Amino acid sequence: MTGKTHIIIGAATAAALARYTNQPDMMVIGMAVSGGIAGLLPDIDVLARKICLGWLVRFIVGHRGITHSLIAIAAVIVAAFTVDHPLAFGAAAGYVSHIAADMMTKRGVPLLYPVNKKFHLLPRQLLIITGGTYETTIQVTLLFFIIFETNLRITNFPT
Ligand SMILES: [Zn+2]
Repeated sequence: MTGKTHIIIGAATAAALARYTNQPDMMVIGMAVSGGIAGLLPDIDVLARKICLGWLVRFIVGHRGITHSLIAIAAVIVAAFTVDHPLAFGAAAGYVSHIAADMMTKRGVPLLYPVNKKFHLLPRQLLIITGGTYETTIQVTLLFFIIFETNLRITNFPT
C-alpha cells in the first residue's frame, strides 16, 4: 500500500481506539496524529530512501522484513504499555494497522521473520493491488471516518 494509505489507516485505527477507550476530545485528534505517523514507521526503509539512506536501512532490516514481523509488533505493544500514555497507544495502533494493511496486499507480510513465509488476511481473490481502485476506495472511506470521528468530538465541546 502507499504511504498515504498507511497514514490514513493508522489515523483511523488510532481514532477508533481513542473512541473505544473514551478518550477526551483533543486526545482523539492527538491519537489520530500519532497513529498516522506511526503508520509509516514499518516502511522506514522506503522513507530513508527519500533521503538517500534507503540502502543502509534496507541492508539492516530489509523491506517488509523484521519491521513487519510479530517481533516488531510485540516490541511496539510492550513500548506502548511501558510509556503508558494514550499517544503511545495511538502510535502502537497505527503501527499494527500498517502490518494488517500490508497483509491485505498480494505481497503479504513475513510475520514469522526471519522465516520467509508470507501471511495474508484475505483470500487470494480479494487481495489488494497497491495504488489500485480498491485502495483508493479504502482511503476515501477512512478519511470520512476520521473526519466524522474527530469532528463529532470537536462539536461536542462544552460551550
Ligand atoms: Zn509495509
